[in-house]
Amino acid sequence: MNRYFKDKTVYAVDFDGTLCEEQFPEIGKELTGTVKLVQAIQEAGNPWILWTMREGPRLEEALSWLAERGLKPDAVNDNLPELKAMYGNNPRKVAADYYIDDRSMITEEDRQKIIDEFINRLQNVIREECRS
Ligand SMILES: [Mg+2]
Repeated sequence: MNRYFKDKTVYAVDFDGTLCEEQFPEIGKELTGTVKLVQAIQEAGNPWILWTMREGPRLEEALSWLAERGLKPDAVNDNLPELKAMYGNNPRKVAADYYIDDRSMITEEDRQKIIDEFINRLQNVIREECRS
């Protein structure tokens, strides 16, 4: 798989059922594993896109909920500005190296393993960056 950038990885992250339990239009209970994963992704300097069907006030609520957890997406239901400039277009499918979504075809057990592995890997990157 060719990544979009050499030095960072782009993630598209769903909201309902992924960062919080599915309870739309309300915001369900936080899914801590994914929240920690996205915090680690962000802290390691990777861009992430909020990739959600929420719009209007429901989207604003989600953005506030994320902000309370220190999470700020680099784009919302949109491609990253750098990629729009690089490709000269803005297709409806957002470009990401990885899509984190409860609708992806993996089991709950797989998902937890992936989350644990990513958190470990990202924490190692952060530790190494702090040392240098
Ligand atoms: Mg979902």
